[in-house]
Amino acid sequence: MSHANGKVLFLKDNHIMYYEYDGTTDTLLSCLYENYAEMLKKWRNQPRNTCTCGKSEDVEIANDYGFGYWHKGLACRYCKAFVSGVF
Ligand SMILES: [Zn+2]
Repeated sequence: MSHANGKVLFLKDNHIMYYEYDGTTDTLLSCLYENYAEMLKKWRNQPRNTCTCGKSEDVEIANDYGFGYWHKGLACRYCKAFVSGVF
């Protein structure tokens, strides 16, 4: 399977959101969801959200592709988008 499940941890309040990770192109798809089921409905057909409100927050980004890893980035819970940390 070349796609994987990802999680975003908002460090301010430990809020977790979910995203789809494309392991083929090593891309985090910039569309965040409040729950896993919502994300699965758009599996391999994710919109590409961008932050337009400027309220991005520090996050840690994880996925379960390969051995899994965490790295730091910026994301916006309101626009449901990654701001940085996306490859
Ligand atoms: Zn935003």
